[in-house]
Amino acid sequence: MATNQTFTMIKPDAVEAGHTGAIIKLIEEAGFRIVAMKKTQLTTERAGQFYAVHSERPFYNGLRTYMSSGAIIPMILEKENAVADFRKLIGATNPAQAEEGTIRKLFAKSLEANAIHGSDSDENAAIEGSFFFAGTEQY
Ligand code: UDP
Repeated sequence: MATNQTFTMIKPDAVEAGHTGAIIKLIEEAGFRIVAMKKTQLTTERAGQFYAVHSERPFYNGLRTYMSSGAIIPMILEKENAVADFRKLIGATNPAQAEEGTIRKLFAKSLEANAIHGSDSDENAAIEGSFFFAGTEQY
């Protein structure tokens, strides 16, 4: 994956609450192009694989359960400076600390159920994008 791409997923709380359309609108208005997108659901095991970096953290089991509790919308996005600009658009991990107008400030329910994921590096964007999408699903 080129460095002008990032990976995101709209998390189960936001999909369930019907915020998918509003979130995609903000993403496109911020200048990101959708390269790949689908609706799917993770098993607890796959959610654990996705967040394996956090396997020693106290919130890991709850996070696996939450992330497999309902449908998600994974997407690969493209824009110059995609990773950093997207992290700015979604806001801080804890919505209580997220800036006004950010996606987490607008739609997150809690620190765990925080509406949306955004890759934290170009390397992780590539790994996470290929966790969900084959090359033939990217346009
Ligand atoms: N999380 C949690 N409790 C915490 C920290 C994180 O439940 O104390 C969840 C939250 O959903 C977060 C995800 O674990 O988005 C991954 O955490 P990370 O620190 O990587 O934050 P992110 O990169 O998603 O902002």
